[in-house]
Amino acid sequence: LSPQDIIAEGCAVVRDPRRLRHLRDVHRVTPGARLTVGLAGGQMGKAELTALSDEQATFHFEPLAETPPPALPVHLVLALPRPRMLARTLEHVTALGVKDITLLHTRRVEKSYWQSPELMPEKIHQHLVLGLEQARDTQLPDVTLRRGFRPFVEDVLPELLANRRGLVAHPGMAQTCPRALTEPTLLAVGPEGGFIDWEIDQLLAAGCEGMHMGPRILRVETAVTALLARLF
Ligand code: SAM
Repeated sequence: LSPQDIIAEGCAVVRDPRRLRHLRDVHRVTPGARLTVGLAGGQMGKAELTALSDEQATFHFEPLAETPPPALPVHLVLALPRPRMLARTLEHVTALGVKDITLLHTRRVEKSYWQSPELMPEKIHQHLVLGLEQARDTQLPDVTLRRGFRPFVEDVLPELLANRRGLVAHPGMAQTCPRALTEPTLLAVGPEGGFIDWEIDQLLAAGCEGMHMGPRILRVETAVTALLARLF
């Protein structure tokens, strides 16, 4: 439940059509259902659905002392995927606990992807919330859009790597993907066509380590999910 949903102490009304559909079609709840909900500020709550219509869902809720699951110490740098894949990938990585996401332009990212409605803040928010709800988490990730590769590498990456290990997933690299990491990590994943050689050179020169995940070339969303599961 977000602060906008809460209309009085212990009472919330959800009107967002997408969240209503999710309640009805995915959770299949009916009035009387008891749910665990995330409240703003990272707290969890117990909620009872008191009414559900096509326009709104009304809840009585009570905050719990329970805290959300721990975050993954990963800053994901993702070459902007095609819109449908972006939506699913944001949902998956949020469910896995990533709290920092940079969506980056690279040579093989279609320019039209930057015009997609999926990049509107409210759409991004929806995908993140679906991931949080799935994982019973309440801490929204930060998502930053970077439309220039060179400015990102020159102006932003050095600061990000000052207190993180940097890893770039790229088929054919000499090093295999580590099996476990215990330190904060920046993880860069390329677009559908991969990073071009010049981009890999720039990322390595900035201090990232290249690594491969074996001979199978994975779709972006599969690669990201497998990497996160393998590393942490
Ligand atoms: N033909 C592209 C290439 O060779 O780079 C394939 C790109 S793959 C569909 C999209 C992204 O997922 C890659 O840029 C990389 O970051 C990651 N990826 C997929 N499979 C990988 C693998 N086996 N090893 C390392 N990275 C992989």
